[in-house]
Amino acid sequence: MLNSDLARELATQYGTPLWVMDAEVVRARVAQLQGFDTIRFAQKANPNTHVLGLLCGLGVKVDAVSRGEVLRAQHAGFSLGGAQGSMAEAVGAELVYTADLLDRETLDLVCERALVVNCGSLDMLQQLGERSPGHAVWLRINPGFGHGHSRKTNTGGEGSKHGIWHGQLPQALDLLRALGLRLVGLHMHIGSGVDYEHLARVTRAMLDAVTTVRQAGLDLHALSAGGGLSVPYRPEDPSVDTAHYFSLWDAARKQAEVILGHGLALEIEPGRFLVAEAGSLLAEVRVRKQQGDLSYLLIDAGFNDLVRPAMYGAHHAMRLITRTPRELGPTQEVIVAGPLCESGDVFTQDAAGELRPQTLPQADVGDWIEIERTGAYGSAMSSNYNTRPLAAEVLVDGADCRLIRRRQAVEDLLALESGL
Ligand SMILES: *Cc1c(COP(=O)(O)O)cnc(C)c1O
Repeated sequence: MLNSDLARELATQYGTPLWVMDAEVVRARVAQLQGFDTIRFAQKANPNTHVLGLLCGLGVKVDAVSRGEVLRAQHAGFSLGGAQGSMAEAVGAELVYTADLLDRETLDLVCERALVVNCGSLDMLQQLGERSPGHAVWLRINPGFGHGHSRKTNTGGEGSKHGIWHGQLPQALDLLRALGLRLVGLHMHIGSGVDYEHLARVTRAMLDAVTTVRQAGLDLHALSAGGGLSVPYRPEDPSVDTAHYFSLWDAARKQAEVILGHGLALEIEPGRFLVAEAGSLLAEVRVRKQQGDLSYLLIDAGFNDLVRPAMYGAHHAMRLITRTPRELGPTQEVIVAGPLCESGDVFTQDAAGELRPQTLPQADVGDWIEIERTGAYGSAMSSNYNTRPLAAEVLVDGADCRLIRRRQAVEDLLALESGL
């Protein structure tokens, strides 16, 4: 939540819609995970190079899932490589590339820059091994079950495209050996959130996989717990108990060390947890409308900016920031919607598209709405739908504020279509 005076200042200076990130919140989240040997940021949650630079400076490493993310991470200061050096270099690699497939251009980059790769399919292993013998790889395992209510966000089980199916791990290991690839570690990204019983099931599945590696006569050097730490989007949502989360994984790591007879590094790979609560989206109220019994506020941000409510029915708390300080009037139930020419452009809806109004004090045109906890999968998932330029981004760090992405101009978009 932003300080109201600061929000007014930023909205006035930079215009709206405006993304605001708070560096202090990011630092606090990093500090909570210090028990892990490596914190690897899943940059897809918020790939702004200034956010990446902040994390890099804190000793956090990075995960990339596209060629663009590799180049972005490099630009932000992360070093590439490690897949053709010693095993210690591979384990310590600043960047790991995670995917279920490598398109041709990315396969070239992975080989040229010796990027450590976290492989989620046998075909990908095959293609990499043929091109780059000796390459260091992680194996991403799908343990046969997932977590969560939405198929769109579930990352395990047969309904998920992700990872090497647990039953195919022996085949993957045979392939790895035949191709001369080197195994760094095993990875599972299932996303248990605050469901610690489920998390314990994930760690058991990990130990089964470690046993399979051992039985195949192979070795490994690290385990990755993946991401999927939840954040409280609603007041009643619990926060992740990071000490407990660590203790479950640490216990599994120690059991794996017994199985293998040597030490193992333990990684965690959060996206959302590190950045979600650090971010807000500021938008201006432009229209108040009464449609029958329902009250609407129309703001100058749409699902082109923040798609999570329209795509997943995600809930984001909102706050009214008056243009000038004033006594707040009575609250009312309002539907908050955007400017897009599309009926789904509503920030207050559930996964079925049912309207879920929020309770806000009465707003005037010119006031602002702060949409909270939008630092993850907010700006990162924005589009240019309706030819709306990408919004500006600001990073607040104590008394310091700086623009970390300028507002896109329509001319930037038209320049891609030159030749008319
Ligand atoms: C998306 C992703 C993450 C991060 O997920 P969060 O839910 O944001 O923590 C971690 N690892 C991989 C491989 C991912 O694809």
